[in-house]
Amino acid sequence: MFTPFQNEYPYANFSEDRPKRKMEEALNLVSGQSGRVCPLVIGGRRIETVEQREIKNPARWSQILGSVCQAPLEMADVAVKAASAAFPSWSALSATERARYFVAAAAILRRRIYEFSAAMVLEASKSWIEAYADAAEAIDFLEFYAREAVRWQQPGATTPFAGEENEVLQLPLGVGVIIAPWNFPLAILAGMTAAAAVTGNTVVMKPAEQTSIIASRFMDLLELAGLPAGVVNYLPGPGESVGAALVEHPGVRFISFTGSRDVGVQIHAKAAVVQPGQKWLKRTVLEMGGKDAIIVDQGVNLDVVAAEVVASAFGFQGQKCSACSRLIAHTAVYDELLIKIVERTRKLVVGDPAQFGVHMGAVIDREAYTKILNYVSIGQQEGRILMGGADRETQDQTGWYVHPVIFADVAPDARIACEEIFGPVLSCIRADSWDHAIEIANGTDYGLTGAAFSYNRAHLEQARREFHVGNLYLNRKCTGALVDVQPFGGFNMSGTDSKAGGREYLGHFLQAKSISERW
Ligand code: NAD
Repeated sequence: MFTPFQNEYPYANFSEDRPKRKMEEALNLVSGQSGRVCPLVIGGRRIETVEQREIKNPARWSQILGSVCQAPLEMADVAVKAASAAFPSWSALSATERARYFVAAAAILRRRIYEFSAAMVLEASKSWIEAYADAAEAIDFLEFYAREAVRWQQPGATTPFAGEENEVLQLPLGVGVIIAPWNFPLAILAGMTAAAAVTGNTVVMKPAEQTSIIASRFMDLLELAGLPAGVVNYLPGPGESVGAALVEHPGVRFISFTGSRDVGVQIHAKAAVVQPGQKWLKRTVLEMGGKDAIIVDQGVNLDVVAAEVVASAFGFQGQKCSACSRLIAHTAVYDELLIKIVERTRKLVVGDPAQFGVHMGAVIDREAYTKILNYVSIGQQEGRILMGGADRETQDQTGWYVHPVIFADVAPDARIACEEIFGPVLSCIRADSWDHAIEIANGTDYGLTGAAFSYNRAHLEQARREFHVGNLYLNRKCTGALVDVQPFGGFNMSGTDSKAGGREYLGHFLQAKSISERW
């Protein structure tokens, strides 16, 4: 029997000596591993390829972090076959036996949390606390899904029927593909992989190109925990080639994807096509982008609101699917609130996050940098710039730094108010009333997170009913969901609302078998 699940919380407090020293030591350790070459891992075999991708620190281009072998297209088939070969013995284990591998992996990760956090500081340019929270969430996913798998193994309740014994069992699906994003390079990858594997499936794990070294570290961790060969296979490579080949493979039974709307929509369409030799309809779990809003009523404490907006908008450079990218404030408080938000934002330290005390690092890569600055140019036509926006001119060219940008007086249907920018850009919109604020908030194609600040009970109840998002927060920020505290997933173009970290989640990776015996 495992002990009851508990979140890995609170996080380390880096203003204390010991955590600070441990993080500095870990950063030194990981910086010294720059010669690392990450091979593919298929059926337990380590395969080095000729083509490799060099990974650089986004905040310090001169720092090479290692090289990642890139899977050639034909390796997709080899990996699916390895996962398929591992399926019969893995799926035959009890859920409790499978769960122990993931509890063991969580224990190793807990002991090495500073090392994994440091790896994310360097590879994803996360601040210390953001990196630590990512690693802590990965531990939560491993521990929580392990316990959940045991619970799901219990036969489901049915209505008694005289003369018969009836039961419903949950069985794994088969071979799955895990396609992960770079922005939670450990937590989301570990969560999606653990959920699929602990329920008895075997998987091919396709990490994001930008953060494939962290994914390789996670693969090593699973091997250290003793996971049998072929249960999880590590297949780094470009999404458009290797990722697409995996999605279309007839031997694949399901795809669990987290990433952008465009890629999610493509996967949805491709997975629907039945390939020659394919005996099932593929299942897809697709978690995609957001254009998340915080709405603010009159009469609230604006200092509290400003602090929560700044944390939601600029934490990890605004590169969270849950980040606040629209502030919608009642006209009575709009001007005063914007002054407070700008004041607070000016205090954020932007720089190399390996340095203690830096709040915001670099954005992930050149593509992100260019995309964000392009939206800043669009914003200059669509709104009034309150701060930031001059990065191209002021930047010392050592990393992909974008300083926070705030636009005021943005129209609800402006591009910067409707399209996901995925960077530190906040669009502020004036609302005439609470009804108007909710209407604006619901006015995009997305529906992932949202927050409402009000001290008016009726307004809060209205937000509960009408603010159409998968994760709604009242009187707090819209980022920072915790496993099994706020199950996570969005509506509309934000995805399939799978509710990662929730008690329904493992059902996506299982199929129910109903058995009836007449006596
Ligand atoms: P992305 O869609 O560019 O890439 C995600 C993954 O898909 C990567 O592994 C990539 O290699 C792969 N991929 C790319 N093209 C593919 C194709 N044609 N076929 C198969 N796989 C392909 O997303 P990203 O830039 O890595 O991540 C940022 C996005 O993820 C943002 O839109 C963000 O909102 C979203 N996100 C959503 C959630 C959520 O829970 N809803 C969480 C984190 C990130």
